[in-house]
Amino acid sequence: MMRAAFIGLGNMGRPMAAALARAGVETRGFDLNASLIEAAAQDGVVAAKSLREAIDGAEVAITMLQSGDQTLAVWREMAPQARGKLLIDCSTIDVESARAAHRLAQDSGALSVDAPVSGGVAGAKAATLTFMCGGAAEAFSAAKPILEHMGAHVLHCGGAGVGQAAKICNNLMLGVTMIATAEAFVLAEKLGLSHRALFDAASISSGQSWSLTSYCPAPKLVPTSPANNDYRPGFMTALMLKDLRLAQEAAARAGAASPLGAAATQLYALHQAAGQGDADFSSIIRLIRGKPSERS
Ligand code: NAD
Repeated sequence: MMRAAFIGLGNMGRPMAAALARAGVETRGFDLNASLIEAAAQDGVVAAKSLREAIDGAEVAITMLQSGDQTLAVWREMAPQARGKLLIDCSTIDVESARAAHRLAQDSGALSVDAPVSGGVAGAKAATLTFMCGGAAEAFSAAKPILEHMGAHVLHCGGAGVGQAAKICNNLMLGVTMIATAEAFVLAEKLGLSHRALFDAASISSGQSWSLTSYCPAPKLVPTSPANNDYRPGFMTALMLKDLRLAQEAAARAGAASPLGAAATQLYALHQAAGQGDADFSSIIRLIRGKPSERS
């Protein structure tokens, strides 16, 4: 039986580790928060008392953490035991830290993949995540069958750090199109155009986007919209803001222009400051209406 270590058993990591255990991989879980280790044990994940115990004897170690600093700290701690193993980071982090993590793995004699996800907690629970992977072909081939236990799509986007690039570029498009869609619905309200009429016209016209037809910020038009549920996540404003900030940081380093990304970052920051960090990001429509805390 294959043995895996899973480090970081939070909102995403716990259901991902559970999916791996369900698939028959012996999964040892560790988190700094002991209560999360106990909770994961209820899902068939073997409790480890330390990072060292989790990775001892494992062929693969997966990290699902909050930031580049956390990933680098954990990967540094794993380095002495990493030779011959496969290290996979599924966290969403900055491209520079992801590349530094790959270098650490290489220096330790380990294969490595950056594999941030799209699909959120619901996708993690249903094991239908999309993994956007960066790393050498050999490392990706080793990681793919493992990631397939937790996801529906496992894509090789390119070399080290390029999985993170794919994730932040995708969320840059998403963050901006959501605001544009929200602006159109608020303008429609002022022009006497009903939400339904705008939706019916734009969803078969050139204004169509995923933000409109899968995640419409106006309620009662798309069954999967958090708007139908008073903008309960979903994908929190705080996480969209995190990803847009990573995109802005990457754009500044790379010398790429990102004027709409910059504006979107500021708008989600305002929305968070108005107390909406925990609401789904499509609730940005309420900020555009000038009523960020309004309930529907
Ligand atoms: P989370 O805060 O719920 O979980 C992170 C866990 O890492 C925490 O439980 C924390 O205790 C643990 N941790 C931190 N340092 C550690 C260490 N040194 N050793 C062991 N454990 C440690 O976060 P989350 O919502 O699960 O998100 C994880 C990552 O996935 C983030 O990078 C996030 O941006 C990304 N992501 C989240 C979502 C989502 O909907 N939540 C969607 C896509 C991507």
